[in-house]
Order: sequence, then structure tokens, then C-alpha cells
Amino acid sequence: MVKYSVIIPVYNEALVIRETYKRLKTVMEQTDGPYELLFVNDGSEDETLSILKELSVKDETVKYLDFSRNFGHQIAITAGMDYAAGEAVIIIDADLQDPPELILQMIQKWKEGYEVVYAKRTKRKGETVFKKVTAHVFYRLLRASTEIDIPLDTGDFRLIDRKVCDQLVSMRERSRFVRGLVSWVGFKQTAIEYERDERFAGETKYPLKKMLRFSMDGITSFSYKPLKLASLLGFLLSFSSVIWMFVVLYLKLFTDSTVAGWSSLLMATLFFNGVVLIMLGVMGEYIGRIYDEVKHRPLYILKDCRGVGQKHEKVLQYAE
Ligand code: UDP
Ligand code: MG
Repeated sequence: MVKYSVIIPVYNEALVIRETYKRLKTVMEQTDGPYELLFVNDGSEDETLSILKELSVKDETVKYLDFSRNFGHQIAITAGMDYAAGEAVIIIDADLQDPPELILQMIQKWKEGYEVVYAKRTKRKGETVFKKVTAHVFYRLLRASTEIDIPLDTGDFRLIDRKVCDQLVSMRERSRFVRGLVSWVGFKQTAIEYERDERFAGETKYPLKKMLRFSMDGITSFSYKPLKLASLLGFLLSFSSVIWMFVVLYLKLFTDSTVAGWSSLLMATLFFNGVVLIMLGVMGEYIGRIYDEVKHRPLYILKDCRGVGQKHEKVLQYAE
């Protein structure tokens, strides 16, 4: 039986993966129980897989799952949880932005009785101003739009207890926002703070497009507020139109001047149509996600794996 499972999602991380392995190994050797390093290869196009194969031959604590294509970071973490066997499960990025040494502190907290120990970033080094600003805004927007207590500035770097992992694997929603789901399940949670390092090598695997999709998944999975915005805007705009109508009538009936020409008309039309189209887009975001859910496709497809046992029984129940 393994006591600790470390899940590491990897997508084109050939430049960092050996170093990650080394640092993780050093840390995990200091723990008090058997462990597994479960890499999830998310359809890498570089040497990642062959390095993983090589490591897993040399070291039996190294296990891997290999996806048939790129399914995305959040799905990769989920797959890791489906196969993790440990009593405590640790999720960490491959690029060493999350220092593995922190795992020891997490384990300490876990032993004190906490079921989720998440790592909160106090600083981000070596990231673009754009990324820092958008991330800052996103976490605050997310927090404002949902009733669930999702901690600020917290990524997926965390330790979760077996109980929490069991709950998470039974949630098979497709637009996954794992850190939100962890907050949603509850249990006894605590934070440890850290400064986020620079990426060890290579570049971010979250281009703007993926970042936008990720933040939309976060907000739509945990809030209906964007939909309610439609009714709010509707009320506001109708109300202001009525006032405007009175102004126009007044000018027409009681003064010599009338409201001038077609430019104001055009402006109003463009504005209202813009609002309507935006709200249709917001609805589209939700409807698209409903469509994804009802198709009920598996979350991911494995091409290969090594060292892992059966999928978690709760996943098998869902007949994926
Ligand atoms: N990742 C993944 N699939 C993807 C994108 C990223 O498995 O489609 C992994 C990546 O290899 C890394 C982690 O997710 O281990 C976080 O990605 P990255 O460091 O590029 O994101 P950033 O830190 O720039 O937000
Ligand atoms: Mg990173």
C-alpha cells in the first residue's frame, strides 16, 4: 500500500521533468511512508513520454498515465486522482513553480488532522505583468460571483486526504475547475503560504486561449450570476428607456425643439443590440457546457499506462 500519491500533470515538459523527478524524489524520501510519483502525460508532443518511460523502468515509484491527446490540465489532475492509491494525495505542477519542499509542511498539517492543505501564493516570480494582473482580477471576480468559499490566489498545488479524493472522483462534470470542487466538498481545510518560483525551464503551457477557457469554466461551474446579469441589465435599460421616452415627449409637446436625428437613434440601437448579443453569448457559454455534459463522453482516453492499478471504483460505477 502506498501512503502518499503525488500527481504531476505534464504537457511538453521534457526540459524540466528530470529535475522535477529529482527534487520530488529527495523530498518524498524524507517522508514516513511508501509513495508513488504519478505523472499524467497530457498528450505531449516532445520527449516527455520517453523520459517518463525511462524513469519508470529505473524507479518503480514512478508511474504514469498517457493520454491519447491533450485533454487539458484539469482533466489530467482528475485522471491522476482516479488512479492515485495513497492515503494522502498531493497535486503539484511539473515546472517547479510550486516548490516540492513544501510537501513536507503539507504532510505535517495533514497529520494534525486537516483534510485539505492548499498552498496560497503570496508572490509570483518571473511571470508577466499581464498574467499577474489577469490572475489577480480573476480570483477576485470568481470570489465575488459565487457563494462557495474559493480561496484567493490559490492554484492546484495542494494535499488532499483520501476522503476528499474519493468525493472528487465521483464528480464527473466535464468543465472541471478542480480547485473550486475541492472547496465545494468542504472538510477541514487550511492554507500554507509560499512564494511562487519561476518556471524551471520551458514556457507556460497556458496560452491566453486556454486561460480564458479555464476562467470561464471556473465562473460558469460555480455561479449563475452572469445569467442573472441579463435580467438586471434588462430592467435597468427598460427603466432608462421609459425616462428617456418622457423626456422626448416633453420636448415634443411643450417646447419647440425635438430630439435630433438619426445619430442618437443609431447609437441607441447599436448599444441595445450589443447588450443583447453579449447576453446571448453568456447564455451560449452555459448552453455549450450543458451540451458537453449531456453527451456524456468519457473525460479522457488513455493510450497507455504503467504501474497503476484499477481506476477508482466510484469512477467505474459511472461506467466511463
Ligand atoms: N499542463 C497540462 N496540460 C495542459 C497545460 C498544462 O498538463 O494542457 C500542465 C503543465 O505541464 C504544468 C501544469 O499543467 O505541469 C501547469 O501549467 P503551466 O506551468 O504551463 O501553467 P502556468 O504556471 O504558466 O499557469
Ligand atoms: Mg507553471
